[in-house]
This record gives sequence, structure tokens and C-alpha cells, in this order.
Amino acid sequence: MRKIGALEAGGTKMVLAIYQEDGTELERITLPTETPEVTMPKMIKFFREHNIDALGVGTFGPVDLNPESPTYGYITSTPKLAWKNYPLLEKLLDGQDIPAGIDTDVNAAIIAEAELGAARGCQNAVYVTIGTGIGGGVYSNGKTVHGLLHPEVGHALLKPHPDDPNPRGVCPYHESCMEGLAAGPAIGARVQGDAKDLPDDHPTFAIEAYYLAQMCVNLIMTLSPERIILGGGVMQRQSLIKQVREETLRLLNGYIQHPAILEHIDEYIVTPDLFPVSGLVGSYLIGKKALEGRG
Ligand code: ADP
Ligand code: ZN
Repeated sequence: MRKIGALEAGGTKMVLAIYQEDGTELERITLPTETPEVTMPKMIKFFREHNIDALGVGTFGPVDLNPESPTYGYITSTPKLAWKNYPLLEKLLDGQDIPAGIDTDVNAAIIAEAELGAARGCQNAVYVTIGTGIGGGVYSNGKTVHGLLHPEVGHALLKPHPDDPNPRGVCPYHESCMEGLAAGPAIGARVQGDAKDLPDDHPTFAIEAYYLAQMCVNLIMTLSPERIILGGGVMQRQSLIKQVREETLRLLNGYIQHPAILEHIDEYIVTPDLFPVSGLVGSYLIGKKALEGRG
């Protein structure tokens, strides 16, 4: 059976795996994300050793996803300066002429969740990770959305909570954006501690739920998804999703009259089935589509 290499490239770690075409995982390794000079040779060696027939990549970004572009598959303007303008896909292939595909890490995650996980059967869905940063993958009519570049859901602007002691947020680029207000480090800055050490009933989670609910409302209003999946480290706090659902209903205020929202919000805003490997499984699926010529 043919073999597919999968890479989930993250800002702190790289997860690489080899899959059989049927989805059986054969091997997996994790490497810290250092400079390309240090990390790339190890990744190239891993994929070379396994003689892969195709490669799928889900990566942090921003990344150039336009196959017509001379910088297709490049990491572009990332704050991780060593990787800025880096031809990730080309270097990974190391001259091998095999089918390959690349998408954002969160688009990879929504592909996996839509095909095999919590959004199975949906043609329109969104995956948002709330971790060190916030990123969203958008699946529309059965395909991920790229558009001009690719969506940057995490930097959409929000209205600050009236009780937020830090209403500007911590994003260096924007005042009151999603990531600046609601990612793990934003919670940490707000409480001067670590988000994961707080009790469930800490008042900061009401503020957090307000932000995540604003995000859900904005996604519902702009994209009309059939399901919203919330993943990432912050969503490891199991009490939070209930608060987000309640707050979303409150902010929607009955405007969207659909039973999926009004009667089944517990199945509408959900956590991922494949966490923490949604992005990796999605990368395999991207590689598989490339292999089958439907990239
Ligand atoms: P990354 O985005 O780097 O892949 P994660 O998705 O694991 O990392 O997210 C890490 C963030 O999640 C940290 O800011 C951490 O404080 C936060 N976090 C982890 N567990 C919890 C928890 N139980 N409650 C709230 N925040 C959490
Ligand atoms: Zn921002």
C-alpha cells in the first residue's frame, strides 16, 4: 500500500507521521520547532527514510496557498522570524517529484473533523483553536476557504467586556482582537497567572465566554456554518463550552431561527473528536487528496 507523509507544523512543535493510504498510522515523531537550519534536515530525513508517495502539510502561517504563485507553499510574514519567507513545502519535498498539498493548520483540522470527526456530514463548518493563539479554519461547500490569502479568524475585532481590566488585549497588531483578548496568554495577562491554574468558577471565564460567544455569533452571521468546533488548550477546560453556548444564544437574541441553534446548541458548538491530532489527520487527508489527484 502507498504511504503518505503528514506534517502538522506548529510554532512550538512539529508533528510528523506516516500513514498508509487507508489511514492506518504507521509512525509518528514530534520535534521542537527551532530554526529551519536545525529542524528541516530532521524532517526531510524522516520523510525520505519512509519513502513516501505523497505529502500533506498543515502549517502555522501566514502561508501562501495559491498554487499559481511563485511563492506557493512559503511561510510568509510570520512573527517567527527564522521562518519568514521560507519555502516550507519545496524544502520538505527535497527535490522529490511526488504529489503534495498544503493548507493552514486549522484548515487541516476542519478537513479532518468534517471528514472523520465532530463535523462529519457537514459541508459547512468552522474549527477554531483557542490556545497560545487563536486561529480558525473554514470549510465551505466541502472545501477549505483560502480566498485572497486565508481567513485569519483569530484577529477579527471584538467588543471588550465592560468588566475586562485589559480591554485593549495583548495583540501587538490590533486593539481588542480575538486573539489579543481571548487566547491563553490574554487570560493569563488578565489574571496575572496561568489560565490553566484557575478554578472553573473564576470570573475571568465569564469574560472569556463572552469573547468566544461574540466570535461564534460573528461566524454564524458571516458564514452560516452547520457546526462550530472549538479546540485548543483553553477548551480543555470542560466547563467553558457550556458558558460559550449560553452566551452565544444570549447574544444571538433569537435572530437566527433554526432548530440546530435554538434546540440543539449542544450539538452545534462542540469540541473536536480528533483532538489533539485533528491537524495531523487533516494533513494526512490533504496528502491523500493530492495522491488521488483531487487536491
Ligand atoms: P498551542 O496553541 O501552542 O498549540 P495549546 O493549544 O496547548 O497550545 O494551548 C496552550 C494554552 O492553553 C496556554 O495558554 C494555557 O494556559 C491554556 N490552557 C491549557 N489548559 C487550560 C485549561 N484547563 N483552562 C484554561 N486554559 C488552559
Ligand atoms: Zn490581532
